[in-house]
Amino acid sequence: MKKKIISSIIIVVLVSAGTGLLIGSRPKKIIIQVDGKVIESKTKEDNVGQAIEEANIELDVNDKLNYDIDDKIKNNQVIVINRVETKENEVIEKIAFNEIVVDDYKTKVGETRIISEGVEGEKKITYTITYEDGNEISRVITSEEIIVEPTDKVVAQGIFDPSSLTVCVNRKSTLSSDYKPTDLVLPDVRAVNSSNRLYMRKEAASALEELFKAAEDENYYLYAVSGYRSYSYQKSIYNPYSGYSAPAGASEHQLGLAMDITLAKYNGTLSVDFGNTKEGKWVKENAHKYGFIIRYLQGKEDITGYNYEPWHLRYLGVDLATELYEKNITLEEYYGDY
Ligand SMILES: [Zn+2]
Repeated sequence: MKKKIISSIIIVVLVSAGTGLLIGSRPKKIIIQVDGKVIESKTKEDNVGQAIEEANIELDVNDKLNYDIDDKIKNNQVIVINRVETKENEVIEKIAFNEIVVDDYKTKVGETRIISEGVEGEKKITYTITYEDGNEISRVITSEEIIVEPTDKVVAQGIFDPSSLTVCVNRKSTLSSDYKPTDLVLPDVRAVNSSNRLYMRKEAASALEELFKAAEDENYYLYAVSGYRSYSYQKSIYNPYSGYSAPAGASEHQLGLAMDITLAKYNGTLSVDFGNTKEGKWVKENAHKYGFIIRYLQGKEDITGYNYEPWHLRYLGVDLATELYEKNITLEEYYGDY
């Protein structure tokens, strides 16, 4: 009988120790790690949040805890508070410039030149940096503002090739004295004079024959006057005061891709009036179908560097001739001035 009573008491004591209700709660040992310190204390508080408050530690909403603040306090509990803070940081960064390559008809194939140097731009970048106990844990770009736009570097890539059917020759882009096309032939067309001034490159000569035939179908009788001219011949006929003749090297006639045409009524000479005739108008509206353009247009004298020449046909091939005709632009405008 005595034994039973003792065991009952033991049970009561054990229960009391478990709940703390009967013999009062004992303080529990806790350890709080915060702000680089380790704080050891004893607390009778019920949960983690209260224990932190009791220790006079202020918690910020961003701070990280290894427990919920509602978690019950246990003996020997180690509570770790990681301080989290964010800061904004503004940085000026360079913006790289782009390199743009443009085709330059005045520069020889294979050569390049710098038209303008590139200049780096500047931008202001704002980062939001998050620190945990002073250590950076993330960095996010929150805004970017361009202060100075970069300037492109522009490089001209030469496309000047005298043997190309689409080469542009003018007073700024000239041929060397020794250039002579290798495929000159005599076009089989009506002409005002001896044939030795009528040579053209093979493809251009065939196209001219087609053009003359098409004109004839409309009862328009065109006459060829002047095709290929050598550098030295061009030099011998150059008249700097005429406004029409080109200095040696600056004439398309050296390419073998040009032909001056006229009508019987002009007695072998070239006339601006040709542009007003029905033949001249037909040529203007139809030459591109055979790959030719009126090279020196009215109103474009400042661009081509030559007076209006309704008689001067230049072969470019059907595609490019059609494009220039439809856009009403010169070869210089097509290539652009760099
Ligand atoms: Zn000409």
